[in-house]
Amino acid sequence: MSGTRSFLIASTAEQTDLQLDSQGNLRHLLTMHNLEQQHITMLLDKAETYLSDIGKKPVRSTTLQGRTVASLFFEPSTRTRTSFELAAHRLGADFLNLNVNTSSRRKGESLLDTVYTLQAMQVDVLIVRDAQTGVPAYIANHANEFISVLNAGESTIAHPTQALLDLLTIRQQKKDFEKLTVAIIGDIKHSRVARSTSEALVTMGAPDIRLICPESLTPEKGTLPSQAKILHNVRDGISNADVIMPLRIQRERIENLADIPTVDQYYANYGLKSSHMSLAAPDAIVMHPGPMNRGIEIESKLADSAASVIQEQVKNGVAVRMAVLAAVIKSLNYKDSK
Ligand code: ASP
Repeated sequence: MSGTRSFLIASTAEQTDLQLDSQGNLRHLLTMHNLEQQHITMLLDKAETYLSDIGKKPVRSTTLQGRTVASLFFEPSTRTRTSFELAAHRLGADFLNLNVNTSSRRKGESLLDTVYTLQAMQVDVLIVRDAQTGVPAYIANHANEFISVLNAGESTIAHPTQALLDLLTIRQQKKDFEKLTVAIIGDIKHSRVARSTSEALVTMGAPDIRLICPESLTPEKGTLPSQAKILHNVRDGISNADVIMPLRIQRERIENLADIPTVDQYYANYGLKSSHMSLAAPDAIVMHPGPMNRGIEIESKLADSAASVIQEQVKNGVAVRMAVLAAVIKSLNYKDSK
């Protein structure tokens, strides 16, 4: 397996074919690429039913009672892994968190042997994060028909549940995707969030998506939706924007760190600050997928300001992951007698 573009393009087509079953229901969640509006809307509507106010008991259901959900994370995660775990528990599933530092993949077991082991233990849903392109689709392609695979972050390529929680957060604040101007600022070249969220925004009809980055972090042509504009100036990029989302520099994916701006240069030229907000639309919201580096991609007080919906994103993350788990379990329902 390689991380080259040619592998990726083959893999994207493959993912699109794999993720729906013959009736058009969500079988795996691998990519936002070509996931139709009706599926996105169905997942957002379902996620809304799982929301309750902070301070009240979280919504629970028995939709996944008797099921087992396992997380296989070969890259670090805080929000995604914990919110999937909470989502599975709140739906009544058993949750198995594979500790990859001690798992057999470290001891040389192949990825597929690990998958086959979990399969033999009758795991129903595998949540996968990996630094290599194509891993979630590869697993979905090789696992048996009783397993659903959810992509929880794939290299620089895809992070579909992040896109869904971003869209839910935007929909709560803005209602109409078809009138939106969205500015995503940062390491666009290496960000799977920029990719998946802009793909989903295009599908929902957002007419003006701006991806703003330093020249050295410009994505390769053809790796993001053609409708999105690449810009290099923050002030131009956020002019009249309704939604602004700064991103972290993905240092772990950059071979030569000397090619990117220093932290001070970056904050001066690309850090989103309160002083920028007068350029944006009057009721603009500020989002961030986390982990957030205060004082680098975002001014600390802006992250805590009334414009910030960063905590709503986190809350919505649990609801969206419950919705995705509930949707894929439906496509596995035929094995109830298991
Ligand atoms: N948490 C997001 C991801 O996994 C964003 C980031 O790491 O910067 O891609």
